[in-house]
Amino acid sequence: MTVDLRSDTVTKPTPAMLEAIMSAEVGDDVFGEDPTVKILEQKCAKMLSMDGAVFCPSGTMTNQIGIKVLTQPFEEVICYKGSHIYKYEGGGLAGNSNVSVRLLNGDRGRISPEEVSANINNSADAHQAISAVVALENTVVREAGSYYTLKQIASISELARSKNLKMHLDGARFFNALAETKEKPEEFGKYFDTISICLSKGLGAPIGSVLLYKKEYESKARRMRKAFGGGMRQVGFLAAAGIYALDHHIERLKEDHARAKKLGTALQNLSWVKSVMPVDTNIVIFEVAQGLTPEKVLTKFGEHRIKALPFSATEIRLVTHLDFTDAMLDKCLDVFAKIAF
Ligand SMILES: *Cc1c(COP(=O)(O)O)cnc(C)c1O
Repeated sequence: MTVDLRSDTVTKPTPAMLEAIMSAEVGDDVFGEDPTVKILEQKCAKMLSMDGAVFCPSGTMTNQIGIKVLTQPFEEVICYKGSHIYKYEGGGLAGNSNVSVRLLNGDRGRISPEEVSANINNSADAHQAISAVVALENTVVREAGSYYTLKQIASISELARSKNLKMHLDGARFFNALAETKEKPEEFGKYFDTISICLSKGLGAPIGSVLLYKKEYESKARRMRKAFGGGMRQVGFLAAAGIYALDHHIERLKEDHARAKKLGTALQNLSWVKSVMPVDTNIVIFEVAQGLTPEKVLTKFGEHRIKALPFSATEIRLVTHLDFTDAMLDKCLDVFAKIAF
């Protein structure tokens, strides 16, 4: 049995999801004629109380379009220093939006109104870039899936609005956060101008992300999707997978969290592990013991057909997901207990 914990993107469609894909009604979405895409976009917008949505091939594209529609060149985006939009999108903010970034430390990636407030530039001073957007990530991938509460988000949004800043949310794992806080998705829309949601992570769709927006950004978001090469044709087949995922795979996310917690607990007392970050959702990040490297540990994992990702010079990341079963969890716990260096 191979166990793949590199990412929650590795899942394959379930038989029922494949059924939904096979029976999707499709049309050319560049002509606005794919009924299934329209259903998906409207469903997502409604779920989070946003005005509309545009279906895209990746979460990188939805984030990049979000920042693009909220900024002008020479402006600045305020975000956590380990944000996906900054660290893992190929320099897209610089290339696509010509913006600079202001990087904040945050508390395990969660930035505070005080930190934001202290990092807003003086727009009257020509030396300083104009602060334009606060971008939050929920959950925070670089910090083992830490999450914000609605109250924290509300206070950042209120501050941002009072300073004339826009709000973007990278909600690649938005529903993982809600599985823990039990908050309602419809409570979130009012705090943001744009929100990116991934269907291809914990929700288990093979491809796809959705950018939700406030009405005034609709035409620019759709124009930018075209300009970025994200206009797709009979893509209702993929939208159908997304609809299926939203209907059937949100409730079960807490199972992934429970399995991740068990992995984290098991790792805590092993000789080859130095420390484990708190496991808040479905991501486990641990540091290997002194004298070891992630590569050495991953080679050993590989001998037992367990795959994980090196996450820094000293860290390894494991992500639980729809295709990670209890039998696989047991295997991991077995292997972790018996390997030695
Ligand atoms: C995966 C991820 C994305 C988008 O990734 P794609 O692979 O481009 O779909 C965005 N933000 C975060 C936090 C992610 O983990």
